[in-house]
Amino acid sequence: MKLFNTLTRRKEEFVPLEEGKVRMYVCGPTVYNLIHIGNARPMIIFDTVRRYMEYKGYEVNYVSNFTDVDDKIIKKAIEEGVSAEEISTRYIAECKKDMEGMNVKPATTHPLATQEIDGMIEMIRTLIDKGYAYPAADGTVYFRVKNFKEYGKLSHKNLDDLQSGFRALQVSGEEQKEDPMDFVLWKPKKEGEPFWTSPWCDGRPGWHIECSVMSKKYLGEEIDIHAGGEDLIFPHHENEIAQSECCNGKIFAKYWMHNAFLNIDNKKMSKSLGNFRTVREISQQYDLQVLRFFMLNAHYRSPLNFSADLMEASKNALERIVEAGARLKDRIAAASVEAASESEKELLKTAESFTAKFEEAMDDDFNTADALAAVFELVKFANTNVTEGASREMASAVYEQLIRLCDILGLIVERKEEILDQEIEDLIAERQAARKEKNFARADEIRDLLLEKGIILKDTREGVKWTRA
Ligand SMILES: [Zn+2]
Repeated sequence: MKLFNTLTRRKEEFVPLEEGKVRMYVCGPTVYNLIHIGNARPMIIFDTVRRYMEYKGYEVNYVSNFTDVDDKIIKKAIEEGVSAEEISTRYIAECKKDMEGMNVKPATTHPLATQEIDGMIEMIRTLIDKGYAYPAADGTVYFRVKNFKEYGKLSHKNLDDLQSGFRALQVSGEEQKEDPMDFVLWKPKKEGEPFWTSPWCDGRPGWHIECSVMSKKYLGEEIDIHAGGEDLIFPHHENEIAQSECCNGKIFAKYWMHNAFLNIDNKKMSKSLGNFRTVREISQQYDLQVLRFFMLNAHYRSPLNFSADLMEASKNALERIVEAGARLKDRIAAASVEAASESEKELLKTAESFTAKFEEAMDDDFNTADALAAVFELVKFANTNVTEGASREMASAVYEQLIRLCDILGLIVERKEEILDQEIEDLIAERQAARKEKNFARADEIRDLLLEKGIILKDTREGVKWTRA
């Protein structure tokens, strides 16, 4: 498996630090609003990376944070006259709803910055002790960039160029910095802001230190992959490297993966242009599986343009997979022959070659567009070869292959009502079990729950029958 490492600017063979295991950190959103489709891209991409690695047999420890203390959150809280915590709690819940809609798996851990303040204070203290950070008179703590000789290695920026650039940009109020390049690790509170007590002042952490600390706590001092949008390369990820490597004395992350920008109608998405699109808005128009398909149909390192036309094309393309799946299911149900014939066995070998193509594409820096092309070859194969009279073995094998490949990409291709039917069946089975155990309260609860969904149960001599109201 090869992946493009931003650090070396090359495609490299993936070799995990520990055999069979992947430790992966993905920078999560700042929760002050509904997530937009730019936030959705890394979520979908890196969820797919994770799914593929799991398919390959790796045990993936996947950590993605929520930044729940930030200027934007505080601003929103003041506007609404509520606490910052209320804002972040609300938008974490909304973000999780969108993630579910996009079929993004919950991370192994979703740490919250506000729950990790002790670790941040500890890391800042270590950095001060080692000479990599210093407190200023007002209690602000800065990272001393010039002491970290490798600063700039991720963004491929030259320290001297950076220094002169920063000098030209010097901001007022920052005269207490030793050097314009130095960045904030801890800052004093302002009136009405949430704060924590620290040895330097009552205040709150800078953004960059959060990820260094959460990554260390949940994944260890050295990790395999650190990922995020390319807008995070500088300064966020560069600063994370500086903090973590100076504190721990070890290489922070072996591989750095970044997804490219997402534009809307060939323009940068921004509040001022009024072309900001939230995932929630998209969900009112499309099943979010269409958005997922749209994102995966391009390479993650290519800029992606969002437009109504491309979403329509994605919807139609996804529907072709769904239809093929439904047809295969019908063939399984209607098959009159069980075992595959000799000629079908030959055909199944051809079908297997599409899985090989799929893997080849994914092994080459997660080329999901080519992987989808392999899925469409399988769809075409199914439509042509799994016809009336096909054996159950043949139809089942192709159906399972199709579902398996789509599942690696996180695409749900079973029809919604079929999933619903399955859910109903499961609930009915659970209700039967509850009754058997004489847990009638639970049994009634399930009956009511189903009634809410418009499902009416009827106990008959042949068992439970159900109808839609
Ligand atoms: Zn981060």
